[in-house]
Amino acid sequence: MPMSADFQKRLFGRLPEIAKYFETPFHIFDEKGILETGEGLKALLKPVTGFQEYYAVKALPTPAILQLMQKMGFGLDCSSPSELIMARRLGFRGENIMFSSNDTSDALFKMSQEDGGCILNIDDLSMIERVNPFPELICFRYNPGERRTGNAIIGIPVEAKYGLRHDQIVEGYRRAKARGARRFGLHTMVISNERNYKYMIETVRMLLEIMEMVNRELGIHFDFFNISGGVGIPYKPDDKTFDMPALARESAALIREFSLKQGYAPRLFMECGRYMTGPHGVLVARVINRMSKYREYIGVDTSTCAANIRPAIYESAYHQITILDPAGRPRQGPGEVVDVVGPLCENSDKFAKQRTLPRAEIGDLMVQHDTGAHSPAMGSNYNGWLRPQQLLLRADGSVELIKRAETIEDLFATFNFEQKILK
Ligand SMILES: *Cc1c(COP(=O)(O)O)cnc(C)c1O
Repeated sequence: MPMSADFQKRLFGRLPEIAKYFETPFHIFDEKGILETGEGLKALLKPVTGFQEYYAVKALPTPAILQLMQKMGFGLDCSSPSELIMARRLGFRGENIMFSSNDTSDALFKMSQEDGGCILNIDDLSMIERVNPFPELICFRYNPGERRTGNAIIGIPVEAKYGLRHDQIVEGYRRAKARGARRFGLHTMVISNERNYKYMIETVRMLLEIMEMVNRELGIHFDFFNISGGVGIPYKPDDKTFDMPALARESAALIREFSLKQGYAPRLFMECGRYMTGPHGVLVARVINRMSKYREYIGVDTSTCAANIRPAIYESAYHQITILDPAGRPRQGPGEVVDVVGPLCENSDKFAKQRTLPRAEIGDLMVQHDTGAHSPAMGSNYNGWLRPQQLLLRADGSVELIKRAETIEDLFATFNFEQKILK
């Protein structure tokens, strides 16, 4: 089930008014839905020792959204300088920030350790000597290589640029210990948009094995292990949902088994991005054209590139579409088969291809579901199209602008500089 019935009920009837007040296009996110998902995650994982969620900032890097995570006691997973700065400006500090960079510069390592630091997740053996000062708590990203495969989206671990090889992982902790680390974590990410929880249980099992192996070699206990994100959501109406209760139950059992053998229990961390916000956002655009070519086309007032790039770049990406009439009522069949397109000079600018939709009239609103993670965040200004504003439907029913639309002057700002010529 894409967008929840509850979100639809609170949103659709009000959309004509919201669209009139703020103008289209926009993304609108659902505070109530995000808080329910987050509180639900905490409740389910209560039996799991010291569970902590670090929301993946790259999924939706908007301060008002990150503040909802803060309100729920979640940390943030950052992986770039701007994400780190955004987190710190919002008051996240130290162990509330998990920093998983790769191909990292010395300057970025330095920055990661300033201003209260963070939990540093080191991605390569060569980087251990480059971290100065070396923190007391250190984490390594593990790449299982041939030992385990993730799902298709993230690719084959042996081809992935991330993490320490299986034969390097003990050496990583040995060197970290020699540099003064006293507390340890272990991280991996081998799935993406996966709705079968069993892959995640495999990850739990695998990391528990690695911690056991490292302890055997070096006599160290782990503060935490981080199975990261990659939990999928149902984009299609008959897609199954990820069985979070089963993940919580089976993880708790595996950790209990581990603690009986090892005499201690590490905390479990996750970095859910898509799972937390994906279903709780929609893109709203106005239908501005009906065109008949070799196919029938519905044209809307924003482009995939600027507003929801997923369908344009991932062949398998699917986002459900609802067409609302001017009164905010979903249009009903009989259907027509259309491509829903934006104005970009690029044929991949299609929100949907050969989709059966009720007949849409010019002036209708197109609601594209599940744009709450990675959709607006991955957008670009290709062809000079501007990224839309973001709104938040508050739990009290008010609607708040949380990111304004880009302006042409924003685009031109990078052409404003002092002359610089190397002769
Ligand atoms: C992208 C990313 C995530 C979040 O992935 P989702 O699929 O949105 O859950 C978590 N951790 C790391 C290290 C990532 O790169």
